[in-house]
Amino acid sequence: MKVLRARHHGLCYGIQRAVALAEDCLRDHGILYASGHLAHNQQLIDSLVEQGMKLVESVFQVPNNAPYIVRAHGLTMEDWEVLDRESELRGVQLIDATCPDVQKIFTIAKEYAAGGYAIVILGDRHHPEVQAACSWAGAKAEIVADYHEFASLNISAEEPIVVLTQSTLDEELFMSFALLIRRNYLNSVVINSICPATRLRQEAATELAARVHRMIVVGGLHSANSRRLFDLCLRVNPQTVLIEKAEDLIRDWFNGATLVGLTAGASTPQRIIEEVETKVMEWTIINPQDSCCDKVDCECKTVEATEADRLAPKPEESEGDQAKAEIQETQGAAPKEDAPEEAPCPDSEPCPKQEESVNTPTEEFTEASTTSIAGGPAQD
Ligand code: SF4
Repeated sequence: MKVLRARHHGLCYGIQRAVALAEDCLRDHGILYASGHLAHNQQLIDSLVEQGMKLVESVFQVPNNAPYIVRAHGLTMEDWEVLDRESELRGVQLIDATCPDVQKIFTIAKEYAAGGYAIVILGDRHHPEVQAACSWAGAKAEIVADYHEFASLNISAEEPIVVLTQSTLDEELFMSFALLIRRNYLNSVVINSICPATRLRQEAATELAARVHRMIVVGGLHSANSRRLFDLCLRVNPQTVLIEKAEDLIRDWFNGATLVGLTAGASTPQRIIEEVETKVMEWTIINPQDSCCDKVDCECKTVEATEADRLAPKPEESEGDQAKAEIQETQGAAPKEDAPEEAPCPDSEPCPKQEESVNTPTEEFTEASTTSIAGGPAQD
């Protein structure tokens, strides 16, 4: 059994920056206020609350002169005006954790709107980042989920328009939308504002999902980028699940699975990813259903790991090969106290389970081991 992690997964630089700003403030001042979600991951928020962060409904509940942090997804122009007023009148200290990539979208929207363009934002109208971008773009801005919605706006083919995207949008959806816009609207400017961190995670996740038996996406159920990773993986691997934490795993999911893929949304803390990985490996190494006998140190309990090792790319084949650099492989070894010794089965008869597994590799396994994994520069 092997667990393969997508090369790009977990906390993106925007969320890391927000967490670092929050932790710095908590260390220096011992207190910090935030409203809504700094990022869409409950475990991450819980951890900051444990360190002293207080959640409030609005900035009006923040005491005079206390620090207040703005979430990574940014705020609407109207919300910023309120914050500026509170800062001026009551000394509320503003810590802006808006991700620089999100800020860039707001700036572009504002500048093009000032230049007389109609702004169209492709994304989820309920997402705070999209709502904020729309607000910075002013009165002529519209949010659409797809081309069908765009067409219903009745924008003339000659009107100057700028299309921007939610930073965590699906790249494929953007490309098909962009082609139709460029073809049908003469004065259109189409800007792909999907952030590099999202793009790398999507590519790495879908490529890995295509070569494993079971794909696990770890992320907040309200996190747009985690849900997007889940949807993308599901398209290439129906055995994909989205979970928030290790406790959500179900043991039966891994019956018969010899390769498991793991990825995580941009707001998922590393600790949660490691807990999930550890639990999956513990289950699959010591699985009574896979045993030929009751002996805890029998080789039949490691046969799946042996088979996965034989069929997975060899480390030396991967080294220096950019095409395979997209994955980090984690050997399916159990924690020390559980690891079975590589002792021969003490039974005199050969173990039937071992013979069957070693001699008859499954078709999926052969495919999985030959799938090529595209590489890319680590930008997050
Ligand atoms: S997903 Fe991208 S845009 Fe969103 S916070 Fe992370 S780096 Fe920034």
